[in-house]
Amino acid sequence: MNIRHLSIVIMCSTLALQLKANQPADDFKYTDEKFADIQMLRFKVAGFDQLSLKQKTLIYYLSEASLYGRDILFDQQGRYNLRIRHMLEALYTQWKGDKESADFKGMTTYLKRVWFSNGIHHHYGCEKFQPEFSEQWLIKALRQIGYKEELPSGRKHATAGKSETWTELIPVIFDPKVMPMRVNQRDGDDLIKTSAENFYGPGISQQEVEEYYQNQRKVGDEHRPVMYGLNSQLVKVNGKLTERKWTATGMYGTAISKIKYNLQQALPYVENDGQRDVIEKLIKFYQTGDLKDFDDYSIAWVKETEGLIDFTNGFIEVYGDPLGFKGTWEGFANFKDLATTKRTETLSKNAQWFEDNSPVDARFKKAECKGISAKVINATILGGALYPSTAIGINLPNSNWIRKEYGSKSVTIGNLTDAYNKAARGSGMMEEFVDGPETLKLIKEYGDICDDLHTDLHECLGHGSGKMLPGVSDDSLKAYGSTIEEGRADLFGLYYIADDKLVELGLTPNKEAYKSQYYTYMLNGLMTQLVRIKPGNNIEEAHMRNRAFIAHWAYEHGKQDKVVELYQCDGKTYMRINDYAKLRTLFGKLLAEVQRIKSEGDYAAARDLVETYGVKVDPELHREMLARYAKLNISPYKGFINPVYTAVKDKEGRITDVKVSYKESYDHQMLRYSKDYSTLPLEN
Ligand code: ZN
Repeated sequence: MNIRHLSIVIMCSTLALQLKANQPADDFKYTDEKFADIQMLRFKVAGFDQLSLKQKTLIYYLSEASLYGRDILFDQQGRYNLRIRHMLEALYTQWKGDKESADFKGMTTYLKRVWFSNGIHHHYGCEKFQPEFSEQWLIKALRQIGYKEELPSGRKHATAGKSETWTELIPVIFDPKVMPMRVNQRDGDDLIKTSAENFYGPGISQQEVEEYYQNQRKVGDEHRPVMYGLNSQLVKVNGKLTERKWTATGMYGTAISKIKYNLQQALPYVENDGQRDVIEKLIKFYQTGDLKDFDDYSIAWVKETEGLIDFTNGFIEVYGDPLGFKGTWEGFANFKDLATTKRTETLSKNAQWFEDNSPVDARFKKAECKGISAKVINATILGGALYPSTAIGINLPNSNWIRKEYGSKSVTIGNLTDAYNKAARGSGMMEEFVDGPETLKLIKEYGDICDDLHTDLHECLGHGSGKMLPGVSDDSLKAYGSTIEEGRADLFGLYYIADDKLVELGLTPNKEAYKSQYYTYMLNGLMTQLVRIKPGNNIEEAHMRNRAFIAHWAYEHGKQDKVVELYQCDGKTYMRINDYAKLRTLFGKLLAEVQRIKSEGDYAAARDLVETYGVKVDPELHREMLARYAKLNISPYKGFINPVYTAVKDKEGRITDVKVSYKESYDHQMLRYSKDYSTLPLEN
């Protein structure tokens, strides 16, 4: 099944359509606590208060449906996860001993990581956490609070009938040899036997799984195959393989029933018949577990593009299964960002003006030019595999034949991208590298607007501008093709972001704002993006190469006039822009040259440009950047605390308003979810 890599996860801001929702209220904080290698963030749901009561109510029920599957994911990612979470939460809330002790603190960090990863393995690296508290302390502490588990009756285990059933969890936490990897992909290993995920029962080999699903495929529809194995656990009963389907009446039934109930509650509030169809088909799938019903749901979902509100809910991505059959549960609700969509529409409508006035040779211009409008959404809630660590772009469904026959929906989640950018601003990065308070002020004031606008120009106009000369093939620039193309779109954006036309269209507030983008772009291309490269390496990734070649080319060609300067202060390197207008002229010149290279398919010139300005790294500057970056202590992984939605009800129980708040702390949210959205027994 070739269904991997279809969901886009883009963390690098300039790669994505980073479209911003709104200015934050003063009391809103994008960053929250840090632990282990994690930083918690918050996102703002701008525009929620402007929605109608009906729309808010629809979002409310879709959000509830997104939260009720949390336990499913915990269980899917390891059969002891729910028990360990429950046990450590009991200790966290009931412990009366020394909360400043290293053991209690170590346990707290471990629990926070379990919450974050929805299990005991790292959400990204998949390796089991190493506890920083002792086994002896844990056992003693659990006895002190008199911890008891409520396990389903009829289970067969060594500790069955004993009061301290939890002792069997101790090696799962502490013994590094027990369940070391959630998803093992090492070539040559039996990937099923060596992975700790809970998609396959004990004693099943990789070969057995592969044969089982090959046989299903043989008897299935060749042209429109369902997603075999997507919604079940495969187990051995009396030596025979059988699927335990995840349905309202099957495995995970208590959780799925809650999800189904909230989807049903949402039905009276849909915006159109298409949405009703989507929800009804999903409910049917949760009831039957028939994968044909899942395809029907996916098709209805792709077709529905009219409504403001949208959602995904179900067994979607298959990265959690080393063989790529089983879907991890996720839930997500969102609505279209109208302000941003309006902005990209303005650019789109004026596409021809931008084409006609660009500095490139007339031979390479399009006579008829169409821009594209970007679809940007705001997340309202993240659930399951999208919580707390999340994607910022989504491209679904994963079924190849549905994509071919019906297409797919591709969206950027604007308010999450925005939150990442805002958090990066507060990381101390700018304070460390920017040349002084004046520039910092400029960036603070206009950085966000111009970042977004540059991305809009890049995506909506840049890529679509210009034309190839007749007879030149698309791939004549070979390995340099994507670097040149990304550079072309970036340069188009850089050239135009300084244009008075944007002020006239109301897209930039004044004639100075663009300078923030010029500064941050040059700083990134010349200096700060080096922090993402390991010592001794060159620049390899296409987007990084394109930013490097643009910045270095402009720097070198403006050197005589000191357009951009690098200088030393207290042993640190800084960058200063002396002449913004000249820098724009340089960007225009380079845009004309890059367009010529593309239109003529001039491979030699492409190679020369990229190799001279975009690949090599100054080792001394690189060392300095890495050292300064390390001191900032920036967490490599980030995730989100959800907003809290509260339904205000009248005496009859009807919803009269939905309030959103952003005040809940990380541990409070996790404990509340474990209490209010606990849907499964500890063992399934
Ligand atoms: Zn691009």
